[in-house]
Amino acid sequence: MTTTKIALVTGGSRGLGKDMALNLAKKGIDVLLTYNSKQDEAQAVVSEIEQMGQRAAALQLDTSNVASFDAFFEQVKPTLAQTFQAEQFNFLINNAGTALYAPFAETTEEQFDQVFNIHLKGVFFLTQKALPLIADGGRIINISSGLARFSMPGSSAYGSMKGAIETLTRYLAKELGPRGIAANVVAPGAIATDFGGGRVRDNAELNKQVASATALGRVGVAEDIGGVVAFLCTDEARWINGQRIEASGGMNL
Ligand code: NDP
Repeated sequence: MTTTKIALVTGGSRGLGKDMALNLAKKGIDVLLTYNSKQDEAQAVVSEIEQMGQRAAALQLDTSNVASFDAFFEQVKPTLAQTFQAEQFNFLINNAGTALYAPFAETTEEQFDQVFNIHLKGVFFLTQKALPLIADGGRIINISSGLARFSMPGSSAYGSMKGAIETLTRYLAKELGPRGIAANVVAPGAIATDFGGGRVRDNAELNKQVASATALGRVGVAEDIGGVVAFLCTDEARWINGQRIEASGGMNL
């Protein structure tokens, strides 16, 4: 059996999840990442991690489809055995997600259900079903958003789900403490990724608006986030539990 620690990162094919995966590998942690549709990009991340000397694998997962989770974990088990010579993993990073920008008055039930499924129900049940595979002493990191603390028009449904996983995280910390499992939230500010059609990155006006609301004077980039998540998986971070760590450059202080 391996003694190297292993992280499962959902949505590790692109954006923040990719940077998390690479930073975890930099710290000597092996990575099992998931993708939804972009298998090639996921495989490229796997290759990059392997070149860094760590083990990695990628599996398909739609985190909005709870009915698929049992089958997913049936795939995780042989992957752990074959690629990582392990029966369990140590860190679960609930990162996968998509954006919804819709004014409160116009948000449809379908849109609400979509963000609910990906950002709350999926995180809740994926974590629940992962419990037997998370090693005692492990960690859970849920990715929230600055939008759970401050409000911007158009994010009522999305921001509400992120607020809910922050509450969930405190319950996870409390209920999993007896197993030595810590649970924390990392809440990024607005980051220039593909998220939301890449609007923080590509919409010059929004980019300027976010930069001017940020104490450090620019929008975030993926590389601002991955190292924070990786730090929470180190021994140095072992006493941090049930906390929300915002990485936003000081947005809307
Ligand atoms: P990206 O759009 O860059 O990447 C999204 C990732 O999630 C991809 O790996 C994608 O897989 C995966 N994914 C999308 N939908 C699903 C699904 N239904 N099931 C499983 N995986 C899925 O987004 P970011 O990296 O920017 O966002 C990552 C997380 O950070 C999200 O939870 C988001 O809410 C949060 N966040 C983002 C901020 C930002 O401004 N960017 C700010 C605050 C929080 P594939 O490549 O296969 O499509």
